[in-house]
Amino acid sequence: MPSLPPPREVDVPVLELARLQPLIGEKRYTDLVGEAARTRVALRGCTVWNVNSTATGGGVAEMLQVLVGYILGVGVGVRWLVIAGDPEFFAVTKRIHNRLHGVPGDQGSLGDAENAAYESVQAANAEAIAPQIRPADVVLLHDPQTAGLVSPLKATGAAVLWRCHVGCDAVNQWTDDAWEFLRPHLTGCDGFVFTRREYVPDWIPMDRVSIVPPSIDPFSPKNQDLSAGDGIRILAAMGVLDGTPTGTPTGTPTGASTGASTGASTGASTGASTFTRRDGSAGYVSRRASVVAEGPLDAAAPLVVQVSRWDHLKDMAGVMAGFAACVAGTGDAQLALVGPAVDKVSDDPEGLEVLEQCIEAWGHLPSEQRRRIRLVVLPMDDLDENAAMVNALQRHATVIVQKSLAEGFGLTVAEGMWKAKAVVASAVGGIVDQVVPGTGVLLEDPGDLDAFGDALVALLDRPEEVARLGENARRHVQESFVGDKHLMQYGALMERLKAR
Ligand code: UDP
Repeated sequence: MPSLPPPREVDVPVLELARLQPLIGEKRYTDLVGEAARTRVALRGCTVWNVNSTATGGGVAEMLQVLVGYILGVGVGVRWLVIAGDPEFFAVTKRIHNRLHGVPGDQGSLGDAENAAYESVQAANAEAIAPQIRPADVVLLHDPQTAGLVSPLKATGAAVLWRCHVGCDAVNQWTDDAWEFLRPHLTGCDGFVFTRREYVPDWIPMDRVSIVPPSIDPFSPKNQDLSAGDGIRILAAMGVLDGTPTGTPTGTPTGASTGASTGASTGASTGASTFTRRDGSAGYVSRRASVVAEGPLDAAAPLVVQVSRWDHLKDMAGVMAGFAACVAGTGDAQLALVGPAVDKVSDDPEGLEVLEQCIEAWGHLPSEQRRRIRLVVLPMDDLDENAAMVNALQRHATVIVQKSLAEGFGLTVAEGMWKAKAVVASAVGGIVDQVVPGTGVLLEDPGDLDAFGDALVALLDRPEEVARLGENARRHVQESFVGDKHLMQYGALMERLKAR
């Protein structure tokens, strides 16, 4: 068994359901409070354990940061553990992740040696987690990184559910490969949660499956209202308006301040770059992003933004190439490709490679195209500050892009739509449930860079159309992807489980 640090518990601030009331209206709020009461009864004396593989970066961590807070707020015992792993383990799980999306990833195999590496890490994590679990508890495991915990944690007598946040509409040899690896680990699982019905492999009985789409929290630092002035002050504080490269883009961005940005930081003294933290206290953006740019950002010109992890499947390089070829020569629009510091997303070994490739491709562009495009690497030391930076960038954007080659859901799409932005996104996976007609532009072939560039040019030429799509987009997210829907479905799932 490898020697690993123990799983880490993530502390999340308690959130009150009541703050959702003005946003979701009386009927939805009453339903939510009713479900919360029933769930509290069903789970009396139990703890719900969420287990995943990273506390920062990516959609799962993003959702747990708020859902766990709301569940605590209704008086249900809930905890969140992040498992440890070694590089070999994360190389295997990233391969599985890619294959569940229908692509080979790094071409390596998923055979006995990989299974042994996977199981030994799981055994070490299980040894640390199992003694804390009581038979009445519920364990909710997230994604392929944790599937190997089903069996050892079932042995505690607890109910064990596995939630798969990734998936692909069509099956191919790569999805088969991933499921063949995972299937034995999922034996005995009490229930499964998928984002879309299309992602469920045919050997999982549908009566064990719940379909639960992801959600956003409109009040989190990522999505809370921000005036244009506050947004610009945040962009200025993080250095994204500057024209000269800063920091070390492939590592943790260097900060103007390296301390926690909650107290007497630059922002506190100037009243600038403020936002509200998840715990309700005032926050100030004081760290700087690492920016790869040539010349300052023109804050008055249109900005196209894609925010993603540095992952091949997000196709940041394709966004850059399409923008450079089709958009940079017209009008005055600029592009920002925005992602996290690559050493801070613990379960994603490809981040550094993808970021380096993007920087190299940017360096090879002609100067006039380079001047329109910047890469922004965000510090992850303070999650609320990072979220405020993403918020400011998304709100400053004229158009949000998510040109993924595959996507389980794409929280960034919902985030952009919530901010009443027109979105140009690939017609893959869960994105098609979000960008419904009249809310944005879907790209039928994510690899078609001309079509992507043309869609951007057409939108940037029509500000009224951009505004119309954005308003519809916000309404659609408000109706379908705000956290109350998610919590209702989780509550009903817990009730069913306990009734069984
Ligand atoms: N994100 C972030 N900071 C970054 C880059 C991404 O907070 O520097 C967030 C992004 O806003 C979104 C999540 O990470 O909430 C990504 O979720 P998504 O479902 O889009 O993709 P995933 O990473 O789960 O594949």
